[in-house]
Amino acid sequence: MNEFDLIEKYFNWKSLNSDMLGVGDDCALISIQSQHQLATSVDTLIEGVHFPKNTSAHDVAHKALAVNLSDLAAMGATPLYFTLALTLPNINESWLKGFSSSLKTLSKKYNIQLVGGDTTKGALSITINVTGVLPKNQALLRSSAKVGDAIFVSNTIGDAALAWQQIQNNKTPSSALLKKFNTPEPQVALGQKLLGVANSCIDVSDGLEQDLSHILNQSSVGARINLTDIPLSDEVSNYIEQTNDWCLPLSGGDDYYVLCFTVPETHIEAVQSIGEELGISLTKIGVITKNKHLEIKGLNKTCTSYQHF
Ligand code: ADP
Ligand code: MG
Repeated sequence: MNEFDLIEKYFNWKSLNSDMLGVGDDCALISIQSQHQLATSVDTLIEGVHFPKNTSAHDVAHKALAVNLSDLAAMGATPLYFTLALTLPNINESWLKGFSSSLKTLSKKYNIQLVGGDTTKGALSITINVTGVLPKNQALLRSSAKVGDAIFVSNTIGDAALAWQQIQNNKTPSSALLKKFNTPEPQVALGQKLLGVANSCIDVSDGLEQDLSHILNQSSVGARINLTDIPLSDEVSNYIEQTNDWCLPLSGGDDYYVLCFTVPETHIEAVQSIGEELGISLTKIGVITKNKHLEIKGLNKTCTSYQHF
């Protein structure tokens, strides 16, 4: 099988959208509506860095697309299309089959079309570039949190980090934790519903503390959050009871099922109805303050977040 057979067999899917020219030409062609903006983002996953070496093809594909969809979610964008740059050590058809079918399943679920990519030989790495669409000037930015805003997070914090820690310690995480780590559900519907409701938003990829700090720095504000208000799963809660290690949920990262967003007091009820409508828990963890400092009530040490360099 050569490169072109591989592309044809595994990545040239039937189009979801007749408005697009996808895989097969030198460029993809996309039509866009007037009074709209495109939102675009790219993320790379490298074997051994972003996922352990023995991760299944299914989970690698899911995570590679989910982390990118999570960026669209954080802006409130509706997914439109993506490209895939795939570097493979060799052509392993059973791996490709698992990868391609998982990618296709997730892309259908979020109604996003694969329109092109690149296929090369080398150490396993997956780069996905996603593009979504938004009504002009409505995107949820990091830079528009306002003093007095309530700070919310979706779901629970720290599950992926606990799974990763257990894997590194040669323990097998529970299936619930593994699901959060390997196959997170990006909060696309939530992001869309927050348009016009939230003042600012970010997805939690590098740990709540660091990601909330991005909102604070870019909005020139501070925040006060309460440790005891942070929503935790039973497993993370038990872990903290045993170790008192609050740094795991605060700086663990990989919480691609979590959006952190700020809303004016007058929109808190709207947030509650969105949570009920979508069937996800949305929890208030604090408030935006004037002094440019993140105060974490109940935390008596500094946590360090993951950085590549
Ligand atoms: P070019 O050399 O002109 O950039 P390629 O030969 O690399 O084109 O790719 C041929 C077609 O297949 C292009 O439309 C490209 O976008 C698509 N393609 C290549 N690799 C992938 C992939 N992994 N997934 C989806 N589409 C791909
Ligand atoms: Mg070409």
